[in-house]
Amino acid sequence: MIPREKLHEGKAKVVYATDDAQVYIQDFKDSATAFDGKKKGTITQKGRMNNAISARLFALLEDAGVPTHFLGVETETAMRIRRLDMFKVEFVVRNVAAGSLSKRIGYPEGTPLKNPPVVECYYKDDELGDPLLCQSHLDELGVVSPEELARATELSKQVNSVLGAFFAERGVTLVDFKLEFGKDAEGVVRLGDEISPDTCRFWDSATGEKLDKDRFRRDMGGVEDAYAEILRRISD
Ligand code: UDP
Repeated sequence: MIPREKLHEGKAKVVYATDDAQVYIQDFKDSATAFDGKKKGTITQKGRMNNAISARLFALLEDAGVPTHFLGVETETAMRIRRLDMFKVEFVVRNVAAGSLSKRIGYPEGTPLKNPPVVECYYKDDELGDPLLCQSHLDELGVVSPEELARATELSKQVNSVLGAFFAERGVTLVDFKLEFGKDAEGVVRLGDEISPDTCRFWDSATGEKLDKDRFRRDMGGVEDAYAEILRRISD
């Protein structure tokens, strides 16, 4: 497919139009940001690795009956995706306490949740710093309908079951992850965006070693090796 004009350039990806109005190309970048863009850097080969990891995981989810935007791999760093009207909500799914949940409810990082998964909604609004939304905030904002919210929550749990089992077989604990959903031209709710070490917490099940973007956020070193290790574990 021939990429046409650049539609959007985000922190980690560029989205291009194509000659088909319902098909976009999503190209993954090596640049990395954290803490609302305050920390910036480059992770060598991240674009290639996140494209390969996301493609594998979207294909796995499609096989398990989760509708996604994934259409196929286009280049080493890019995939063809279906155009979606994205919801202005991010869904974070958690099995083990870490990051902002540990701060919010006081569970030390690494505490298994009593009733997993916890599913949270965050408002996609950079100016507001993507705040956590409670149910009545969602009702008030109306950025997703009750039906869309219910479907996206159901799909989030299904994604957790599929990916949790897949990674467990490969010696990786799926601690938490962020998903974004939208609607296609037929009104079907589909999973969009990416699934990669940028958007998930992956811990080695045996050693507890972090194999994700927390190595970048927390200046732990070994960032490229961690992404490469996740790609290696999921490549059959
Ligand atoms: N996450 C993400 N994008 C965001 C915020 C969070 O991909 O804008 C992912 C993050 O990588 C982790 C999960 O969502 O896997 C939960 O993140 P958390 O709320 O703990 O925030 P953080 O500690 O990363 O600030």
